[in-house]
Amino acid sequence: MSAKILDGNALAKAIRAGLARDAAAFQAAAGRPPGLSVILVGEDPASAVYVGHKEKAAREAGFASAVVRLPATASEAEVLDRIAAMAADRAVDGMLVQLPLPKQVDPLAVQRAIPPAKDVDGFHPVNAGMLLLGQKGGFVPCTPLGVMALLDEAEIPLKGAEAVVVGRSTIVGKPVAQLLLDRHATVTIAHSRTRDLAAVCRRADVLVAAAGVPGLVRGAFVKPGAAVIDVGINRITDAAQAEDLLAGQPERLEKFRKNGHALVGDVHFGEAAAAAGWITPVPGGVGPLTVALLLRNTLEGARRTEGLPA
Ligand code: NAD
Repeated sequence: MSAKILDGNALAKAIRAGLARDAAAFQAAAGRPPGLSVILVGEDPASAVYVGHKEKAAREAGFASAVVRLPATASEAEVLDRIAAMAADRAVDGMLVQLPLPKQVDPLAVQRAIPPAKDVDGFHPVNAGMLLLGQKGGFVPCTPLGVMALLDEAEIPLKGAEAVVVGRSTIVGKPVAQLLLDRHATVTIAHSRTRDLAAVCRRADVLVAAAGVPGLVRGAFVKPGAAVIDVGINRITDAAQAEDLLAGQPERLEKFRKNGHALVGDVHFGEAAAAAGWITPVPGGVGPLTVALLLRNTLEGARRTEGLPA
């Protein structure tokens, strides 16, 4: 393997330690901690794990944190009522509704109901619009911020670089592409209808994979020396797929054989690491940064509410 590993766990830990100090300073100035509240609808196991991580990280950094749990049968009106109550609560600086939502609840209605000033996920049309317009003072989605934090930590040059983002979702692909564009990269967004994905990816000095397809990006997609950021988090249970995607990672393969499941990214790690200059692992790459930057957004919101400097 030639690539340097971009260690998301280490960077997230450092960010969270800084946030704990900043949260204490905020509390001293404002007389209250910054507050993050989450609404979880239903019993999706992955969502429950993500929400648990957010709650734990918030508490550890000295934030006030609350989770409102609603049954999978909750109506859209019930969810919107809870959002309105949270929005009116002065102790809540940042709030979010964990996705995905049950079918009867429209995620767009939910995103529009959260006041932009508390929308720490950055999904509200106002915040999305501010990102597009390059206006300061809005919230930028946390996973895209995590991608940028990893690139910046390794001082990977972006100005004039060829960047390819695989995936055009509103929560990852599009905002990442916008942030790379803001940093003067030449950005291509690839997606499920892209012709010859391998050739498009091979142009990239910076390759961001956010497709939700295990091992989509193979070694031949990677330009030698490129920075490869793998946003994908996919649970696999198929033995043949695990043998393929975990090749070269004997300990992880052994664990798969024991447990029958593994988390993998959208990048074939072993193959890509042989060509790349930098690469993120999954798990332990972008994932931990998402939570750390959610807290950073919340603290930023709290400071704005209290009129304290950023
Ligand atoms: P999504 O399903 O909303 O979007 C996927 C995008 O990938 C689409 O734009 C689609 O066109 C594209 N795509 C799908 N198949 C493709 C293919 N074969 N070739 C090229 N493009 C293809 O997914 P999302 O919400 O953007 O999430 C993407 C991945 O990132 C998922 O694995 C998700 O679990 C992960 N994720 C991780 C974090 C984190 O904290 N690290 C946060 C959000 C999402």
